[in-house]
Amino acid sequence: MATGKAQRNTRQRQVVLEELKKLTSHPTAADLYEIARARMPKISLGTVYRNLELLAENGVIQKLEIGGSEARFDGNPERHYHVRCARCERVDDVHDLPGGFVKRPVKHLSGYEILGLRLEFIGICPECRKRSEPGSDEVAPHERDHTR
Ligand SMILES: [Zn+2]
Ligand SMILES: [Zn+2]
Repeated sequence: MATGKAQRNTRQRQVVLEELKKLTSHPTAADLYEIARARMPKISLGTVYRNLELLAENGVIQKLEIGGSEARFDGNPERHYHVRCARCERVDDVHDLPGGFVKRPVKHLSGYEILGLRLEFIGICPECRKRSEPGSDEVAPHERDHTR
């Protein structure tokens, strides 16, 4: 059938989008590939990645250009800020932070018309904090240096 391939492509994109929308974990393409494969065993990592790029270009989802080793994807296309755990690379949303809070002072200080900003908070997530504070007040050596 002439339309078979196009239909399959549409279906694959739909599955990738549906699975991403279910998650609040800001997964990588590889994470989504593992999940999508459970529903569509023939899907490839390349296909998942291409679909994510396409959906991000169309503003349906966000590709997060933040630190860490791999691009992360967000099913929420609304502008919001993120905080990344320096230990486990978990990424969470930071809600209720007004967008103008830093643009206005930066415009004033630099004379630039500010079009946007990329802002990523880096921290230690609640899970990692729990793991590092089992009743001891000893500071782990790598906790002293946050500048990396
Ligand atoms: Zn963590
Ligand atoms: Zn997010």
